[in-house]
Amino acid sequence: MAYRKEILHKVRQDYNQKRNRALGEAAERLAALHEKYPDLAAIDSALAKTGMSLVKEIVKGSEGIQDRVAAVRLENERLQKDRADMLVFYGFSPDYTDVKYECTQCQDTGFCGVEPCLCYKKALAKEALAYAGLARLAERQSFDTFDLKYYQGDNRAMMEKVLAFCKRYAESFHEKADSLLLIGNTGLGKTHLSTSIAVSVVEKGYEAVYTSAPNLFSALEAEKFGREAQLTMQEVLDAEFLLIDDLGTENPSALNNNFLYNIVNTRLITGKPTLINTNLMPADLMKRYTDRLASRLLGEYAVMRFVGSDIRMQKIGF
Ligand SMILES: [Zn+2]
Repeated sequence: MAYRKEILHKVRQDYNQKRNRALGEAAERLAALHEKYPDLAAIDSALAKTGMSLVKEIVKGSEGIQDRVAAVRLENERLQKDRADMLVFYGFSPDYTDVKYECTQCQDTGFCGVEPCLCYKKALAKEALAYAGLARLAERQSFDTFDLKYYQGDNRAMMEKVLAFCKRYAESFHEKADSLLLIGNTGLGKTHLSTSIAVSVVEKGYEAVYTSAPNLFSALEAEKFGREAQLTMQEVLDAEFLLIDDLGTENPSALNNNFLYNIVNTRLITGKPTLINTNLMPADLMKRYTDRLASRLLGEYAVMRFVGSDIRMQKIGF
């Protein structure tokens, strides 16, 4: 599984920029020092010469090479030390002219040898989250911040299972993973766990689309009537993982029901995993949408029921 081209391109560009910036700033610091302190410039040119003589000695090769190379090395070390002392004497740190990379591991290339650096993987995931519309939610909502203390008694036991299921789903996610329907009243953590799953899917490099139901349907409506749309039906159908948050909060209309049926049906046929969460209970789903749609959701999605009492209310002391 690979990140999509736009994301790779954007991250590559960012790395080129920050590396060039680091190199450019170091060069500027050095040039300014050389201008102000000619003795430092002299040491640097002597150092450059020892580098050259080292190459020459190696090229000459043969007899006594080890001694000659050692002598040049010694001279080089002496100059390096003088240079560091001189920088300190002028009030700078000894590494003042070094290139200050953001990541010392990969020197802002994104790669350590042929392996992508950890910083690069993180940058890709971050960009992908932004691309999926998840950047802001991902800051607050992850499996780590999901707290079972808000669920009591039998509810807690049930929510432990729900949490374990969602974690397992996220860990073992693949292109043909099941679709999920998370059902339950407001304030029971459905969005929190949906986001946690989506973040983990995105971090694995899958292309995900996150959208709230009202935004989804208004975008599709805009597209249908030729207005500028934030999301197109094609993107929704093509996404490797689609998360529709809070189904049922959109304006009810026959058009929206058609959009939804098309999304659910097409993605089931193409085997693309979808996660939908909703406050609507099964009977409400049937009433609100067609039986045909409700039976697809309830029959072909893995259904997880959220139980308990509103966490948001508990947090404010009710
Ligand atoms: Zn790095």
